[in-house]
Amino acid sequence: MATDNQTEVKTAASNFIRNIIQDDLASKKHSLIQTRFPPEPNGYLHIGHAKSICLNFGVARDFNGRCNLRFDDTNPEKEDNEYVEAIKTDVRWLGFEWSELRHASDYFEQLYQFAIELIKQNKAYVDSLNAEQIREYRGTLTEPGRESPDRNRSIEDNLDLFARMRAGEFKDGEYLLRAKIDMASPNINMRDPALYRIKRAHHQRTGDAWPIYPMYDYTHCISDALENITHSLCTLEFEDHRPLYDWVLDQLSVPCHPRQIEFARLQLKYTITSKRKLNQLVSEHHVAGWDDPRMPTITGLRRRGFTPASIRDFCDRIGVTKKDSFIEMAVLENCVREDLNEHALRVMAVLDPLKVTIENYPDDQVEEIKAANHPQKPELGSRTVPFSKTIYVERDDFMEDAPKKFFRLSLGREVRLRYAYYITCTDVIKNNDGEIIELICSYDPATRGGDSPDGRKVKGTIHWVSAQHAVNATVNLYDRLYAHPDPGGTDNHLEHLNPESLRVLTGCKLEPILAEASADTACQFERTGYFIRDSQTDDLVFNRTVSLRDTWAKIDKDNA
Ligand code: ATP
Ligand code: MG
Repeated sequence: MATDNQTEVKTAASNFIRNIIQDDLASKKHSLIQTRFPPEPNGYLHIGHAKSICLNFGVARDFNGRCNLRFDDTNPEKEDNEYVEAIKTDVRWLGFEWSELRHASDYFEQLYQFAIELIKQNKAYVDSLNAEQIREYRGTLTEPGRESPDRNRSIEDNLDLFARMRAGEFKDGEYLLRAKIDMASPNINMRDPALYRIKRAHHQRTGDAWPIYPMYDYTHCISDALENITHSLCTLEFEDHRPLYDWVLDQLSVPCHPRQIEFARLQLKYTITSKRKLNQLVSEHHVAGWDDPRMPTITGLRRRGFTPASIRDFCDRIGVTKKDSFIEMAVLENCVREDLNEHALRVMAVLDPLKVTIENYPDDQVEEIKAANHPQKPELGSRTVPFSKTIYVERDDFMEDAPKKFFRLSLGREVRLRYAYYITCTDVIKNNDGEIIELICSYDPATRGGDSPDGRKVKGTIHWVSAQHAVNATVNLYDRLYAHPDPGGTDNHLEHLNPESLRVLTGCKLEPILAEASADTACQFERTGYFIRDSQTDDLVFNRTVSLRDTWAKIDKDNA
């Protein structure tokens, strides 16, 4: 079922849900597994949804079953076709294809008929209590609820009122259709839950055809049954709703009774996985949009340079359990780092340029230096990089009063320029403020390619870009969106946004080939990190997906 041809899709690790499914197949309870991924189209998908997508579609893929994409579109005011389209794009980008595309709104007429079936069985009634009274009558966790005065309305009257609700004869909120279950149930969800409400809202698919809309709990189980879902996988907060899920289906002449199984939501540290809060970040402009590369949305991760394979791998590694826990961001970052380490092409880019003039290099000479696209994978070929008298290196690859263990450039010390020559720093030029603005170096022509024929060794290798050939670019460095490990658990997540979540570097110098980079080609800037060209601008802008494990960090720290 995977459509992404970059990587072979692995069969996911076993988990308690897969074990249940395996048993159901072995015992012949089911011969065909049918799952569904049921997003509400009221926002973009996030990394938490990816867990549910990989689970639902992954199970179908691995057990030769089917998985539908179903939009749970019963809250018209918050829903939009923009979200519907974005969700389809994101599911496909993750590498999955649905067996059928469905909408809960496809079933509005059937849901209505099932409600009439409930009324006829005296299992649902039209109630005129208002929202506040409903709350009052509901009771609490320790006290039973009270029955509404309307609870014993006759079946005829209920049928009549419900038909008139549907015909649009009443004001919003004037009546509710409620299930008649048990106002004394210890489970509050079973205390005569609402099934239908009156709401004049334009629906993105059904327009103004319906002045009443079915409630989520009522809609979801019936939609599952109508699609012959065998295993209805949802997150733990629906555990207390399962008795209602089963009750509704037990009363009705539906084609099957799916089994609801709950699993723990993904919670990632230093970010949020709540569409409502993500929506707030977008609408209040705390981020640049749903696809801001700092967002935990699928579209944000894509723009950041995450690959579908890395996200699927992440979902496999975190597993599926019934226990809530927080996952470190590093787990996700490691997945993309490993994937990009395999596939990303290596290039040279100088993010904080310091000019270097090689005094003994011929003034007008330009050499094409051969550079490997992936040193560990010769099959990925090579390219040439122009070399000339004036180059840029990273400012922090030079230190004036360098300690002994500093193996990069310093006065009188020799380093290797990646793929090119050994150079030795002979002089430092400063401006009036004492800032270093240029280095003067000499090079050893015999070391072309990066090795010395006399066996002389240098400890450091630094990257570089020829000044006259470099292309200018802006580079975005991202950090965590929040400074708090559980922003969703605080009173106001906005107070915990990380003010340093984006650093914009301008005037970065890249090797010329990067002028033609496309937004779907990830690359490694050697020694710096993994980057991808930003997809939302024609300007040359690169987003850092993730840093490399920095081999310099420890040395620099030791010397600090
Ligand atoms: P949100 O609170 O972000 O709006 P939701 O559960 O209301 O999330 P839905 O669109 O209803 O969003 O979710 C579609 C499916 O994805 C549901 O089956 C839901 O259980 C699952 N899902 C949502 N968030 C997570 C998460 N963090 N981890 C795992 N599954 C999730
Ligand atoms: Mg939901």
